[in-house]
Amino acid sequence: MKSTAEYLETPEQAAEQALALLRQAGGLTAAAVWGRIGMAWQRLACLGAADTLPEADALGNGRLPGPDGGALALRAADKTLGWLVWRGQAPAWTAGVASLLAGHLHCAMLRAEQAAARAANETMLEISLLAGESATPERMLPRLHRLMSRLMDASNFYIALYDEDSATLRFPFYLDTRDPAPPDADSVFPLNGANASLAAWLIRGGKPMVLSAERILEVCRQQGLAHPAQLPAFWMGAPMVNVGGALIGAVVLQLYEDQTPFTSAEQLLFMFAARHVGFALDRVLYRGQLERQVWLRTSELEGANARLRAEVSSRKRAEKFQDVLFRIAELSNTSLSLEAFLSGLHRLLNEMVAARNCLVALYDTVNDRISFPYCSDEYSPPLQPRKPGKGFIEQVLHSGRPLLVDPSSALPGQMGGDGGVNPKSWLGVPLYCGHELLGVLAVQSYESDVTYNFRDQEVLEFVANNIGAALARVRALEGLQQAYAELEQRVRERTGELDAVNAQLEFDSLHDPLTKLPNRTYFAKALRRAWDEYTDGGDRFAVVFIDLDRFKLVNDTLGHLAGDHLLFEAGARIRSCLRHYDFLARLGGDEFAVLMFGMDSVDECEVIARRIVSEFERPVILAGREVFSTSSVGVVLADREHYHKADDLLRDADHAMYCTKQQGRQGYTLFSHQLRIDQADQLALESELRRALEEEGQLVPYYQPFIEAKTGKLVGFETLVRWLHPQRGLISPGIFLPMAEESGLITRLDRYMINAACAQLQAWRSQGQVGEEIALHINLSSANFHDPDLVRWIGERIAHYQLPPAMLHLEITESALIDQPETAATVMQALHGLGVKLALDDFGTGYSALSYLHRYRFDVLKIDQSFVFDLDHKEESAAIVRAILALARALDLDVVAEGVETASQLAMLQEMGCGKLQGFYFAAPAPEWGIDWARLARFEQEIRCAA
Ligand code: C2E
Ligand code: CA
Ligand code: CA
Repeated sequence: MKSTAEYLETPEQAAEQALALLRQAGGLTAAAVWGRIGMAWQRLACLGAADTLPEADALGNGRLPGPDGGALALRAADKTLGWLVWRGQAPAWTAGVASLLAGHLHCAMLRAEQAAARAANETMLEISLLAGESATPERMLPRLHRLMSRLMDASNFYIALYDEDSATLRFPFYLDTRDPAPPDADSVFPLNGANASLAAWLIRGGKPMVLSAERILEVCRQQGLAHPAQLPAFWMGAPMVNVGGALIGAVVLQLYEDQTPFTSAEQLLFMFAARHVGFALDRVLYRGQLERQVWLRTSELEGANARLRAEVSSRKRAEKFQDVLFRIAELSNTSLSLEAFLSGLHRLLNEMVAARNCLVALYDTVNDRISFPYCSDEYSPPLQPRKPGKGFIEQVLHSGRPLLVDPSSALPGQMGGDGGVNPKSWLGVPLYCGHELLGVLAVQSYESDVTYNFRDQEVLEFVANNIGAALARVRALEGLQQAYAELEQRVRERTGELDAVNAQLEFDSLHDPLTKLPNRTYFAKALRRAWDEYTDGGDRFAVVFIDLDRFKLVNDTLGHLAGDHLLFEAGARIRSCLRHYDFLARLGGDEFAVLMFGMDSVDECEVIARRIVSEFERPVILAGREVFSTSSVGVVLADREHYHKADDLLRDADHAMYCTKQQGRQGYTLFSHQLRIDQADQLALESELRRALEEEGQLVPYYQPFIEAKTGKLVGFETLVRWLHPQRGLISPGIFLPMAEESGLITRLDRYMINAACAQLQAWRSQGQVGEEIALHINLSSANFHDPDLVRWIGERIAHYQLPPAMLHLEITESALIDQPETAATVMQALHGLGVKLALDDFGTGYSALSYLHRYRFDVLKIDQSFVFDLDHKEESAAIVRAILALARALDLDVVAEGVETASQLAMLQEMGCGKLQGFYFAAPAPEWGIDWARLARFEQEIRCAA
């Protein structure tokens, strides 16, 4: 099937056929058919001497071929589409042929228009698609030009882009066949002002323009514009807007006089195309801008990110350095020897650099020798001092600068050992103290994957910078005396404004002459100053109170010189636990106090307290003897909420220390809110005890029997107090005795018990329950030695109850004797005078009990339950018990072993020949009404049977 279009003849074919028809009629000598093709006339067909016939233009102007011919206009849709012109005799149906031809031409015209419209449409579409296909304006614009050329003569074509912010123009695409110097793509031109371009003027106006050469000259003159380099014959421009309606530039086409002017259809098409170009270009520009922005933001972000990373890592590094610096300072303060300091330093260094092998060399300028106070190396033995030679160390000493030895160069052993192993990398830095070159700090590696770099050098230099001074300090610390002299020096420096005499006076008034430490007055001042600073927003601090356990004992038994030595040593030990800026003072006696600055938490305090306590676990050598002098510590952290004045802090630190003592000494207590409550509780308990002493029945004597080891016979009782508190129930003496001692109520309590026990003994005697062989033991606290009336009062009680005085045994602990040795001796002598017996309680737990046995005349010795407890599983305890028994035999003393709980303990004590036994194995302490006399009687049988 042929398409409809193919059935249609072309205008030329139609014209040929029409003329052929007319020729057949035979009357014509010449004929021609003209048709309008596009804008121009064209002869479609002819016959005979057609050249002599008038042309289409002439025909249109009314010129006809003459009297022997004719012409017919070929008209359709009110337009003249062509002419039929002839000479000779035309047949009558010529007009019919003409109208047929007109139909053909009309049809062809419509077809041409349709094709042109389709082509224009396609071109527009392609222009619109350009934006999607072209990444940049540079790529897009040449393609755009090609498309424009399809629509019309675009040999002189340019695009102007407008930048609103800077009010300038740019010509990213400029094609002008005549212009010798077209503007380049990057140059910018002002939109306003004299000599602006035609394009600028167009954009200012915002409307499309079509100008002839004359009009261009006129506009340029009127508007003061720059004349075009070559005057075009025709100029047409259209502003470009984006989808938002904003002006973005202009599209311009121009023609020179040798070019065909644009038809009005082309002008219209151009305006239409300009809109599409505007949208498409805007999209590409906007996309470019967007991409540029995204790129800019991305690179900004990346930059910020990198900066941040760099900052974080440099801060981390700084923190690490800070931490190391602090630890070096601490090391130098706490290390007791240079060696300890340097090995600590090595450990620190290892955290930052691969420093398995490390060496410190010191150079002695006077003797020109290098010594090695520290050398830790996988292959090299410790190095001996030597004269400087030619090694790396000497190079560093000589240059005073770091030396990083390239791993690629062959390294001879630097640490002296020529064991054949050479380090792969060596790094050494000078050690300075001020400007004085002290020596070298070096590290080396034997592993090929560990090579030092400049970063390591930096670390090493940093450490070296800080150890120079620390080295000097550690050296100074080696002599304790020297350290104290330094302390004096520092104190003196602070009071440097006073003259020398005043300074000395002040020093004396503020320091303890024995330990040279600040005294109580000085401490009080420092405490107040610290408190004021703290309340003004300064650093928080803690007060530590330290009391030596049993210092008195040392003083009494080993003499004052030894006591002084102990105090001096104690000061030094405490100091070694502190940082150099902490403030240590001796408050008096065996009490020390410390101000710890910059303490923020209880945990930090605890670390220091623990350190102090453990520092006293090592024995002190006094007068050639090893003496253990533990310490009790109390700590309080300054806090604005609970305190209003500095002195209260010291009071509470003291209280906390006291709590430590109560809990068995050798330890620490952190003052807390709970302690405050306990304190209040103690006060309440105290007033309740006062009342209990006045009433009957709350304080009840319990009795615990002693058994004779050999026979099982009941030989005595120990009286032990119990408090039947109306609200709190039964309270053991462990809970309230410390408070009773503290408050001084203990003497009243003891009298209460002595009286109650004597009354009980009288009752038992009158009932025939016990004979004279029974001993009644009563505990007597040391506070009673201060009571001048005690002896008389006891004598009076004995008389009152008509008791044989020798039945009464008073139990006294060693500590009672330590506290007041002289008074104790007098009182004990007087008691002996009454005929009362004395027992030394808790024997073995004290210090030098032997001297007491000589000094005071005891009748009975009670072996402390701690030895009995360990008897069957600790050879040491068995040996001590054996020794005590031998001693007692030698001094002719009775012995009671306390705390017998098991049959095996009983058997051992019997075997060892211990006289009397007391403990839960036989009976727990019980009130008078709870004593199981029958059970007590049975022991005699049991033991006899066992024997
Ligand atoms: P202490 O004089 O050493 O008394 C012996 C303690 O050991 C008593 O504790 C007693 O109950 C306990 N005990 C007895 N047998 C055993 C045993 O087999 N195993 C164990 N683990 N413990 C045993 P209590 O009664 O709690 O007395 C504690 C301390 O309080 C006494 O130690 C004494 O120093 C003091 N005390 C007790 N009553 C008085 C008193 O009336 N006046 C004075 N000044 N002090 C007293
Ligand atoms: Ca006792
Ligand atoms: Ca005891």
